[in-house]
Amino acid sequence: MADKVVTGLLVKPGSNFSLKRRNPGETFGWDKERAKAELAEVIAKIDVLQVKLAAEHEHSLLVVIQAMDAAGKDGTIRAVFGPLNSAGVQVASFKAPIGHELEHDFLWRIHDVVPPRGEIGIWNRSHYEDVLVVRVKNIVPKEMWEKRYRHIREFERLLSDEGTTIVKINLHISKDEQRARLQDRINDPAKRWKFRSGDLDDRKLWPDFMKAYEVAFNETSTEYAPWYVVPADRNWVRNLAVARIVLDALQRLDPQLPPDSPGITDLVVV
Ligand code: ADP
Repeated sequence: MADKVVTGLLVKPGSNFSLKRRNPGETFGWDKERAKAELAEVIAKIDVLQVKLAAEHEHSLLVVIQAMDAAGKDGTIRAVFGPLNSAGVQVASFKAPIGHELEHDFLWRIHDVVPPRGEIGIWNRSHYEDVLVVRVKNIVPKEMWEKRYRHIREFERLLSDEGTTIVKINLHISKDEQRARLQDRINDPAKRWKFRSGDLDDRKLWPDFMKAYEVAFNETSTEYAPWYVVPADRNWVRNLAVARIVLDALQRLDPQLPPDSPGITDLVVV
């Protein structure tokens, strides 16, 4: 049965989506302690399906995570995917392209780390940077980035046709909550290493980033690679919402254990 919360987080393809209609502080009426217990239950279900995904060895699951700084990409990955069998999970983080990456098209380095059959891939940032920060900061000319929405749709179509289930998640944080978290990073010696002065430059461009996110969602949320916008001002809401999206995707993928080899049940181990 479809998870109604998950359906509510979806950016419906062709819906003229507006970020303003989504509240980063949403709690869905959940209770914090109950949500933490439920997170463990949902992860246990994901764990069972991960085993089947690996055993079936036909499909893969790609989870793209995009967000403004301090929205909790790392914390989400640790909370939701950390408890899984690490042999079947690959995390890829994307920084600004360097060296030979710049000698190729923008999807070249991306395609290389698509999760292989049987595995779950989590992308901490992604090819969407090439229509987000690149658009906002004019890193390449408009004539180049405006074609990328189509390139991305077609690339994701290819992955989907070849057996990769794709879910794309935006951790939607408010500007106020980001201010508090960045200040906390500056103030707390244990967190200071996470702070980059460039975070403040991006923060100044907040409205431009929101616009770029909105365009990206409207251009690239498809039936085969949907976007979900997750309220991220509260970590416990964010974690449970992301886990439920992942569980929902795996349930739809419905991996099956492979059939028994002929005669296996008659074998006796001596
Ligand atoms: P994070 O914030 O993800 O923990 P960093 O602080 O190293 O990691 O930030 C990575 C930076 O790389 C971000 O500012 C991001 O916008 C940038 N980046 C990622 N991909 C691209 C890209 N394709 N083009 C330009 N910048 C990019």
